[in-house]
Amino acid sequence: MTGEFLPYGRQQIEEADLSAVAAALADPLITQGPRVRELEDAVRERTGAAHAIAYSSGTSALHGAAFACGLGPGSVGLVPTLTFAASANCLRYVGAEPHFVDVDEATFNVSPAAIERTVAERGPVDAVVAVSFAGLPVGVEALREAAPGVPIIEDGCHALGGHRAGRPVGGPGGADMTAFSFHPVKVITSGEGGMLTTEDDELALRARRFREHGMDRNPAHAEGPWAYDIVQEGYNYRLTDFQSALATSQLNRLDEWVERRNEVAVAYRELLDGDPDVELPPAAPEGSLHAYHLFVVRVPAGSRRRVFEGLRAAGIGVQVHYVPLDRFSLFSECPRHPTPEVDRYYESAISLPMFPSMRREDVERVVSELRRLLSEVPTGAR
Ligand SMILES: *Cc1c(COP(=O)(O)O)cnc(C)c1O
Repeated sequence: MTGEFLPYGRQQIEEADLSAVAAALADPLITQGPRVRELEDAVRERTGAAHAIAYSSGTSALHGAAFACGLGPGSVGLVPTLTFAASANCLRYVGAEPHFVDVDEATFNVSPAAIERTVAERGPVDAVVAVSFAGLPVGVEALREAAPGVPIIEDGCHALGGHRAGRPVGGPGGADMTAFSFHPVKVITSGEGGMLTTEDDELALRARRFREHGMDRNPAHAEGPWAYDIVQEGYNYRLTDFQSALATSQLNRLDEWVERRNEVAVAYRELLDGDPDVELPPAAPEGSLHAYHLFVVRVPAGSRRRVFEGLRAAGIGVQVHYVPLDRFSLFSECPRHPTPEVDRYYESAISLPMFPSMRREDVERVVSELRRLLSEVPTGAR
């Protein structure tokens, strides 16, 4: 090993976060208190969303979105195979069926053309789960054209802090519902945690009740102040107040961190520019902002494993995001449209370290190790 271990992602916890959590823990209500609403208000302010509903994780937020959108047994949702399992599991949780589709080679986000073809071949679908992969905001308008009238659930777990032509991910003009994750590798963290945003009052109400046992605390015919009704299916998917305090505190630095991530990306791009063995990830279109949860490069398929192992041996915590979903046993029976772009991507992808506290010399170290490993084998042998 040369130098300290560099993970592919790392949270940043500062003094302000510690005091915010300590204050929350000193309060009488450490869950179901005021700090959950404070976080929701802060996310609404940040994204411009009409509603923000805190959840215990990105996964439970996606479950809430699938339920709120009315999906259930017999429903079909289109999902790209290039994502984390939760994007498809949220459909299965409500009894709906994922149907896998390809991504667009220019963005690695779900392909509008593949959606259009799939709908033409198999008939109408009930939802599209669109991932803003690596933090590049998915183009929602093209999805609306490809599948008119179909609810779009954006898996925005990579993309908090990004925007499409000035419209923040999770805000107006985006998907019907957007889910975020506050897992420590994501852009901000609460340990575990998540958030759903929407413009739609009815979706918001269903998602809010779903988080808390399907409870309606304002029944029309209350027997007394204790009364409540249970009006729909629900779970306990609450976020605690001390987690909310951490996320709210982290949110204060969201812009700064996304900017830092973009600076790290620029450094990688400069240093790797023109290298015939390295394909750089797509950048955000002019006027939009990439949140850069991940920085995925592609190397010649024949060298990927050796380069991956070599980088790990050099103390560089690379990853592969993701094993395509159709390769997992659980999803092997799911209907799928051909996914040549995901398959090609998967042969050659490596996620390089990407987090806001990375220094220029960390980026240089990753690039020089990558270059060293790529130069070890003549091109013809790759
Ligand atoms: C992290 C992630 C999730 C799940 O979020 P958790 O908070 O870990 O439950 C879902 N989808 C994608 C694309 C993710 O990266």
